[in-house]
Amino acid sequence: MNAVLETRALSKSFGAVVAAAEIDLVVGEREVIGVIGANGAGKTTFINMVTGYLRPSGGSIRFRGRDITGLPPRQVVRAGICRSFQVSQLFRELTVLDNMLIALGMLREGALSWLAPLHTRAREDEARKVLERYTIERYADSRVATLPQGVRKLLDIAMATVSEPPLLLLDEPTSGVAAEEKFALMDTVMAPVRASGAACLFVEHDMEIVERYSARVIAFYDGRILADGPTAETLTDPEVRKYVIGAELHRDREAGCSK
Ligand code: ATP
Repeated sequence: MNAVLETRALSKSFGAVVAAAEIDLVVGEREVIGVIGANGAGKTTFINMVTGYLRPSGGSIRFRGRDITGLPPRQVVRAGICRSFQVSQLFRELTVLDNMLIALGMLREGALSWLAPLHTRAREDEARKVLERYTIERYADSRVATLPQGVRKLLDIAMATVSEPPLLLLDEPTSGVAAEEKFALMDTVMAPVRASGAACLFVEHDMEIVERYSARVIAFYDGRILADGPTAETLTDPEVRKYVIGAELHRDREAGCSK
């Protein structure tokens, strides 16, 4: 298995809080991995370090053999790692099409400039094709602020993947999405990932999603990896059931929802 991502002793502390404790992890090409863990287990901290949003306190990150530890987010994206966020990062007052044109503009020019027109026929065609791939082309002219949460999530992920990155990190892709829409959303998101041969790590609290879409699961607990292995094995691990899945059931009960 060729490694796409490799972290060694990756650590992060916030004062006395150890959010990541010497995380060793290897992600192979084309792997689709579910990342689970109760609130505060360190999942987002890990993603933030890999994508340059947080500088590690220690350890290293290698991407396709290159040391990317401490690179800022824009350089990490250029290297080939893209991400989506728990809360979609979109221009709410602009239309879906304009958001996508901005993502394409950033990809082609590296930054937006008043000298480079956002709307060109060729770029608009390209943007509409991406929207079509993510089944949201009918919303092209709608303002983001008016969209249902599932469409916002798809747009955010579509924008994160315009460069067809070899590694995609998704932070809770189905959070806030209606239960009856979550599988359709994941089917739409995973189709281009599989077609392009990218590796994908997605953080999820919904075990039905984890079971259905990941071949391997990594369980975080208290800033460290509690278990890492094939999905069925990890989800039935007694410690994972006790510290992760038990906590999720408790969380769902408190939120008054059933999964
Ligand atoms: P959730 O499922 O709620 O998103 P998580 O597993 O992603 O949780 P993290 O957000 O990575 O967990 O948090 C890990 C620990 O680090 C928590 O104790 C959290 O309070 C702490 N932490 C995270 N970011 C910061 C910060 N910027 N400053 C201080 N403490 C932080």
